[in-house]
Amino acid sequence: MMRWLAVVVCFSLGAPASAQSLANQLFGALRDGSNQQAEVIGAYAKGCLAGGVELAETGPTWQAMRLSRNRNWGHPDLIAFVQRLSQSAVTEAGWPGIYVGDMSQPRGGPMTSGHQSHQSGLDVDIWMLRPNRLNLTRRERENLSSISVRSADQSRVNENFTYGHMALLRAAALDPAVDRIFVTPPVKIAMCNAEDGNKDWLQKIRPLQGHHYHFHVRLRCPRGDRNCETQTPSVRELSKGGNGCDASLNWWVTTYLELLRNPPEPDPNTPTPPPRRGARDYTMADLPRQCAQVLASN
Ligand SMILES: [Zn+2]
Repeated sequence: MMRWLAVVVCFSLGAPASAQSLANQLFGALRDGSNQQAEVIGAYAKGCLAGGVELAETGPTWQAMRLSRNRNWGHPDLIAFVQRLSQSAVTEAGWPGIYVGDMSQPRGGPMTSGHQSHQSGLDVDIWMLRPNRLNLTRRERENLSSISVRSADQSRVNENFTYGHMALLRAAALDPAVDRIFVTPPVKIAMCNAEDGNKDWLQKIRPLQGHHYHFHVRLRCPRGDRNCETQTPSVRELSKGGNGCDASLNWWVTTYLELLRNPPEPDPNTPTPPPRRGARDYTMADLPRQCAQVLASN
């Protein structure tokens, strides 16, 4: 008991840390990428990005949304991927293009709001909203909202989910640069049922709570980036070599939802664990040491 108390006390003394600057404040304040060769440093949820590149706010087949956040930055591999996927939206899904949500900050790093990941320039959120126009003004991009493709009870997709979404997700999963894609479990269930051809691509589609207004694409480490941390376990390991269209997927719309509705009573004999530190608590000491150079660079 005393040991737990000590942990809790140390934690609450150390956590507010307004004196030791928080990494998200430092990274969030920089408006441009670092003048360095492009390199991914660290992990998706604990890292940064050297030589980040800005995705053009508007292209022939995409628009970046919520420009005020300045999160339309990434590794050059991510910029190229977004452009490829936006073309696939036209050729595979019959969409005019895509609305691109958060990528990374100019130098990556932890963010002041929202995501734990998106730190290393390899993550991108793609809106579920099929674009009607690709000439939205800045103001329209602040005010327009995406749509949810999930039913209110979270067990199914709703009428907003279309074959166009599936074609776009398939194109993303088949892209060799992609490591995995996070999407609401009902979408994976719907695609497992609807795919009557080869289902191998579904291995990269990972069910996760949330992710019904957008899907999240995560790229592999760029070739040669020695400081980039590959995510483990791999999607192959997670799905035991299969496509994940199985009982582990069904769990999300049965047991998981049941636990959400009726959370178990906490066991009075188990001490409450200290609050978990998240990306917004990180100081520079939590990040790979190269991130200090990224921050200090021109
Ligand atoms: Zn995301």
